[in-house]
Amino acid sequence: MRIAVYPGSFDPITKGHLDIIKRASKMFDKVIVAIAVNSSKRPMFTFDERKALLEKSVASVPGLDNIQVEAFDGLLVDFMHQHDSRIIVKGLRFVSDFEYEFQMALTNRKLDEEIETMFMVTCYKYSYLSSSIVKEVCSLGGDVTDMLPEAIMDETVAEIKNRSKK
Ligand code: ADP
Repeated sequence: MRIAVYPGSFDPITKGHLDIIKRASKMFDKVIVAIAVNSSKRPMFTFDERKALLEKSVASVPGLDNIQVEAFDGLLVDFMHQHDSRIIVKGLRFVSDFEYEFQMALTNRKLDEEIETMFMVTCYKYSYLSSSIVKEVCSLGGDVTDMLPEAIMDETVAEIKNRSKK
């Protein structure tokens, strides 16, 4: 069974993330979306909230039934071993993603040479998109219709507005 792991903070999931999940879902038997719980970024949404938003978005896409959402903490290679996976899937946006992702891919291979990182080039229309951009635009009252999955749009917009007031 080919199992891929798609790691990230997903704070919150965007249409860019969902696009990568849909495409990876066709390439592998199972895709584990690994939500980083203790990354250096301070998340706006708790792990449970990020998981719920991800699962709701995935459930809204017909046929997307080989996706599993898990928490991950510590080394990604340890998580990969625990879940019997050797393939890391990452999305690549502009050149700005490249340097960091290149370094991470080489580090993970150094830690375990059996592990491969596969990059999927972003869909052009989501190439500018990140969770931080969504939070920023939304907290300033801008329209994020094309940025968030429809299934989670209203609740996410309301929460971001609410939390960014504090
Ligand atoms: P963000 O940068 O949006 O906070 P994450 O840290 O959750 O995202 O990123 C997880 C993975 O998703 C990374 O591999 C990242 O490159 C990818 N990704 C994020 N946004 C997009 C997008 N708009 N298109 C393609 N891949 C993306």
